[in-house]
Amino acid sequence: MVKFPEATKRLFGNVFVCRKCKTKMKADSAKVRKGKILCKKCNSKALRPVRKK
Ligand SMILES: [Zn+2]
Repeated sequence: MVKFPEATKRLFGNVFVCRKCKTKMKADSAKVRKGKILCKKCNSKALRPVRKK
């Protein structure tokens, strides 16, 4: 995979990781902040945005 800043932003901009089971999922960041997004696996609200350099 080639890493471009723009592509990285697009790929990881709306991707969140569950803190409990570390499942990645796409979600709207605004909804995640409001707590409307639950983890698919464990239904946890503890999601963190993915930011890898
Ligand atoms: Zn989870």
